[in-house]
Amino acid sequence: MSLTVFITGASTGIGAACARAFAAQGDRVILAARSADALRILTDDLNGSLGAGTALAVPLDVTDAQAHLAALADLPADWAEVDVAVLNAGLSKGLDPVWKASVEDVDLQVDVNVKGVVNGFRAVVPGMLARGRGHVITLGSTAAHTVYPGGVVYCATKAAVLALTNGLKVDLHGTPVRATTVSPGIVETDFSLVRFDGDQERADAVYADTNALTAEDVADAVVYCAHAPEHVNVQELLLTPRVQSGYTMIARGEAAEGL
Ligand code: NAP
Repeated sequence: MSLTVFITGASTGIGAACARAFAAQGDRVILAARSADALRILTDDLNGSLGAGTALAVPLDVTDAQAHLAALADLPADWAEVDVAVLNAGLSKGLDPVWKASVEDVDLQVDVNVKGVVNGFRAVVPGMLARGRGHVITLGSTAAHTVYPGGVVYCATKAAVLALTNGLKVDLHGTPVRATTVSPGIVETDFSLVRFDGDQERADAVYADTNALTAEDVADAVVYCAHAPEHVNVQELLLTPRVQSGYTMIARGEAAEGL
């Protein structure tokens, strides 16, 4: 069955990979993020390579609750019936001890990672319930299951995403609407570049001499959850690269070779 899939954080990284993966198997994708130019380039690419009407760009800041509602309410009629919402937009900021984290960094992580997800629920779930079908997939993290030094606020927001999605499933009890969290370990994207405010050298070191997941690996997992048979609800799908153990242990150098 061909799905209409709404994806936040679709301008790059895991969200963009999800857009490509869904589109490649015949689904239609609505791409949301703040970077309108990046969305337009990806939309043009997908519509050019896979056919007009494959992708639609919707510039959106997920922290704006009203804009989130309007983005869904104002979709063209033939795009309005969203089957799957991938609430992927998220970020981390800094790697300081929690008492040194700036007010701005804490607010931003909570606003995007936590409130942005609730804003997504508000915008997509009522239509899914009215149509009697739908699936909300959030991007959690192994960080939801542990805390690592300097990442405490980020870890707390991802624990919140897992709790919110489990809670959504409970609130949807007895309805046909599904809820899933996909929780990856380390994935090589712009995530660390954003965390370190554009410091490329520091970001590169995170992925050096190891074998992280790719955005495409995670997109495959998201597509699997969305296309599972209707009676199946993947509650949480937790995936790490083989080099990662115990959430925070990442093998490097010789130990990561040949994997
Ligand atoms: P990324 O490459 O930095 O992509 C993040 C995406 O989020 C971008 O498209 C960005 O687009 C969007 N975004 C940020 N703030 C936004 C806002 N206010 N409104 C709308 N969109 C916003 O990072 P990624 O690795 O793909 O991360 C995607 C998700 O996976 C996040 O939730 C992250 O926590 C999670 N995750 C990542 C990893 C990892 O190791 N990379 C591991 C586990 C979980 P704009 O800047 O254009 O808005």
